[in-house]
Amino acid sequence: MYADSHCHLNFPELSANLVSVLDLMRANEVGMALCVGVNLEDFPQVLALAEQHDNLYASVGVHPDYEGVEEPDVARLVQLATHPRVVAIGETGLDYFRLTGDLEWQRERFRTHIRAAREIGKPLIIHTREAAADTLRLMREERAREAGGVMHCFTETEAVAQAALDMGFHISFSGIVTFKNAVALKEVARVVPLERILIETDAPYLAPVPHRGKLNQPGYVKHVAEEIARLKGLTADEVGAASTQNFRRLFGV
Ligand SMILES: [Zn+2]
Ligand SMILES: [Zn+2]
Repeated sequence: MYADSHCHLNFPELSANLVSVLDLMRANEVGMALCVGVNLEDFPQVLALAEQHDNLYASVGVHPDYEGVEEPDVARLVQLATHPRVVAIGETGLDYFRLTGDLEWQRERFRTHIRAAREIGKPLIIHTREAAADTLRLMREERAREAGGVMHCFTETEAVAQAALDMGFHISFSGIVTFKNAVALKEVARVVPLERILIETDAPYLAPVPHRGKLNQPGYVKHVAEEIARLKGLTADEVGAASTQNFRRLFGV
């Protein structure tokens, strides 16, 4: 069995086809998926998915790319994350690729999420893009280790992975690891210990080979497991079982 640690099933491309999305999950033995929140305005839809389907879970957070949306404070995040179907805080983090200029607000928002995660004792889902040094620095300064969590859609170096592992974090690989040109990332996947690996689709984006370029969905997470298995000399079943166990332990489900 497989568990998709990160997808956006409330996005219209997927929510419009939810029945077939859930059917393919079943057909491909994807037993669970975490629907990740990106802003508070759409959080009710994310939560509704988790309330209506036993195998879907929710997280609450405001993505670093979202400007002009409700800015969360610690109390608000903690209040929303109290719901039993909410198993994590995020996605949160830093993104210096999509946005430029003075991004102090992004760092403040990230600090707020780490504080909320520590307060409620639920793990963090961290997004980092071209901002690894600051991401790790803020994680240290705000003691993210106490909450734990996952570096999602990991595309950074082995050194960054090691720093996150040292803070007790998990590393989640997406369909990018199946791309032929992702040579360095394949090496990272080889060395991250199996007991700290999660797999994800980040659907609707980043469909893995052989579906690259098409609309992604949680059922395809199996292909991520197959590639990691190939890199580690294991079977896809072994990677699926281990990463599912990691998912259960980290998110307490
Ligand atoms: Zn992300
Ligand atoms: Zn995402």
